[in-house]
Amino acid sequence: MIIVLKRETTVEERKELVNKIENMNVIVKDASSSESIVLGIVGDTSKIDVDQMRAHHNVSKVIKVDEPFKMAGRVFHPEDTIIDVKGNKIGGGSLTIMAGPCSVESREQIIEIAKLVKKSGANFLRGGAFKPRTSPYSFQGLGEEGLKYLKEASELTGLPVITEAMSTEEFDLVEEYADIIQIGARNMQNFSLLKKAGTAKKPILLKRGLSSTIEELLMSAEYIMAGGNGDVILCERGIRTFEKYTRNTVDLSAVTAVKKLSHLPIIIDPSHGTGRREMIIPMSRASIAIEADGVIVEVHNDPENAFSDGQQSLYPEQFDKLVKSVKRIHEVIITEE
Ligand code: PEP
Ligand code: MN
Repeated sequence: MIIVLKRETTVEERKELVNKIENMNVIVKDASSSESIVLGIVGDTSKIDVDQMRAHHNVSKVIKVDEPFKMAGRVFHPEDTIIDVKGNKIGGGSLTIMAGPCSVESREQIIEIAKLVKKSGANFLRGGAFKPRTSPYSFQGLGEEGLKYLKEASELTGLPVITEAMSTEEFDLVEEYADIIQIGARNMQNFSLLKKAGTAKKPILLKRGLSSTIEELLMSAEYIMAGGNGDVILCERGIRTFEKYTRNTVDLSAVTAVKKLSHLPIIIDPSHGTGRREMIIPMSRASIAIEADGVIVEVHNDPENAFSDGQQSLYPEQFDKLVKSVKRIHEVIITEE
């Protein structure tokens, strides 16, 4: 961080400010010349409130040169984070495939789909029991009943479960049943929920907000990590652009950016990303080819009659094809030098 002081700042005022900054456990290097008074701040500057600094009467400019996400960032944690969920590794070159319906609709439905996706090679079962829906009249999920069915499907197949918690009120309940707790796109900046996730004993899948930047995504991960939970998986699920043909625009470049900036695993959700069934296999292939740590996709045994997102849910045989295909691409990626 570079802080430029106003020319009229007195020597005493400068000293006072330097002392104040040094008390924040950083080193202040004076880089002033006869032209300007410049302070270079070295070390962990994440605790310095930039807005407060800018508001100081002696400060003319504050330039951020380092990233504000210290825990999520690679600078202080160069090696990839690998998250182990019941023996399934996420990150560090492993291939993660999460699959299942958009919503848990019934005991029979989730058990049948769990068996199908397990047979094809998924390593996690997805399914929403608490559903964030645009319309209040759309199916809202089965709630705790859905969580119970998910657990039963998980026990029958051995697939760990990922499911969403939409609010702090239901968070503990979801944590009881889930192996990974999802924070959905609309909640990416729900700071109370992020703080709650920071206290969880289970990994969190954090989905990128519809209109959020990569930095905002990483700052939301930082919230969870600062709260004490380092097991965060990021998810690119498409962002809102002017394009209407697809439901969202999958930002594949976010994967490469996140890999550079952060040590956290990142997976892609081409189902919500495109909203179109025929695009899920090609986009999954692309995801693995650009070194995403995996995909999360919607699969349904009867997509035409699905309670939610049928249009983007794969038929089981399509999912089977997807797994075979991405495994081959993954093989190429991990054996490449
Ligand atoms: C979901 O995965 O069920 C979901 C609603 O996704 P998103 O939050 O990305 O829209
Ligand atoms: Mn869905």
